[in-house]
Amino acid sequence: METVSKKPKDMYESVKEQFENAANLMGLNSNIKKILSATNNEIIVNFPVRLDNGEVEVFTGYRVQHNNALGPYKGGLRYHPSVDINAARALAIWMTWKCSLAGLPYGGGKGGIQIDPSKFSKSELERITRRFTYALGDNIGPDIDIPAPDVNTNSEMMAWIADTYMATKSPSNRNAFSHVVTGKPVGSGGLEGRDRATGYGVVVSIQAWADWKKTSLDGKKYIVQGYGNVGQWASIFMKEKGAILISVQDASGTIYNENGIDPEELLEFASKNNGNVNGFPKALELKSSTFFSLECDICIPAALGNQITENNAENIKAKLIAEGANGPINPDGESILLRNGVDIIPDILCNSGGVIGSYFEWLQNKSGELWIIDDVMPKLEKKVIHSFNSVVEAASEYHTDFRNAAYIVAIKRIEKTYIQRGVFP
Ligand code: NAD
Repeated sequence: METVSKKPKDMYESVKEQFENAANLMGLNSNIKKILSATNNEIIVNFPVRLDNGEVEVFTGYRVQHNNALGPYKGGLRYHPSVDINAARALAIWMTWKCSLAGLPYGGGKGGIQIDPSKFSKSELERITRRFTYALGDNIGPDIDIPAPDVNTNSEMMAWIADTYMATKSPSNRNAFSHVVTGKPVGSGGLEGRDRATGYGVVVSIQAWADWKKTSLDGKKYIVQGYGNVGQWASIFMKEKGAILISVQDASGTIYNENGIDPEELLEFASKNNGNVNGFPKALELKSSTFFSLECDICIPAALGNQITENNAENIKAKLIAEGANGPINPDGESILLRNGVDIIPDILCNSGGVIGSYFEWLQNKSGELWIIDDVMPKLEKKVIHSFNSVVEAASEYHTDFRNAAYIVAIKRIEKTYIQRGVFP
């Protein structure tokens, strides 16, 4: 008989199921559950941009604002063909939980544009970014909604956003708005260390897991999917722990060397190869489908969502999956992994270093201070370790896995706020 394979759950279905599981387990107040099940605002803008060839193209941009009980919406902007309203919803909801778990005064938002940025010139990307910012208008702002970099967006684009937004304000107080966006270049109000904050947080959480397991990272073999901002920095910090990178997969291909790939050499190679890892001379090329089944201790997905599902989870050999990416494992994939005894550091904990770094940048801009990297990294480490410990505690209290535990800690903080404040009117 022919077997019909079901389409794996998408990110939005996943985040809803994860919320439902945690809400039931903790006995979340039913009215607050209704509030948190909906997104507050969903902004879709269509805006024209003149391309280099003189033609005008109309682009569609998204910004979903899930919940702001704890503070302004906060979350990245993604430029990728997979960006749509459901992807923005899922990613915005994850940001609400992430900011709450990290103890930050932020809610959750996320957005982006459905484009493949590799098909546009730099000056086209600048015009697209500036016009998108203009179209969002006062839906964003330092005390309203604060974007940041995500897949295919970088510090330069954040500087364009800040500059465009500030240009719409009166000259006398333009500088009061530089923290409309975080992840800016250091010379333009950015934070020293924000570039590596997410990757650093990933490795701090992996080290915290190793300490909890009473093991060492020295000599542990690991694989990384995605060699962009998060994957690169996570690999560099894993090297400092003595761990050995044996395979990397990105959009260009999969490379493998059982004796180890040097993260810095690979970065130098990729920077001259359009950011791609394929063709790295000190590694073999592998078929993409073999990546997740490689023999290793730790797997760091740091690319897109929905990479580990019921279709490939059974083959995973890693003992730990550290979610650098948002939503890389869907709930059906996760059930298989948990049954097989694989530990998971969930995204809202594992990659929270990025938003923690963004929070420091926002504080720095707000108070007119300039922090130095030696102060930033220990502060960030302390916050990630604190979250890790609160997740371990909740997992033991509720006899549950780390994802449910992380959700419970995050949701409890928001529940408390609603209980204290009530619901208007
Ligand atoms: P990036 O654009 O710098 O890098 C993305 C990487 O993913 C690239 O190496 C790209 O080649 C790879 N990739 C794209 N499609 C792929 C595919 N189909 N298969 C394998 N690899 C693929 O993005 P980033 O900022 O490093 O973000 C990566 C992930 O981390 C995303 O899920 C993002 O939401 C999450 N994240 C990022 C930050 C941050 O501060 N940048 C913070 C928290 C979470």
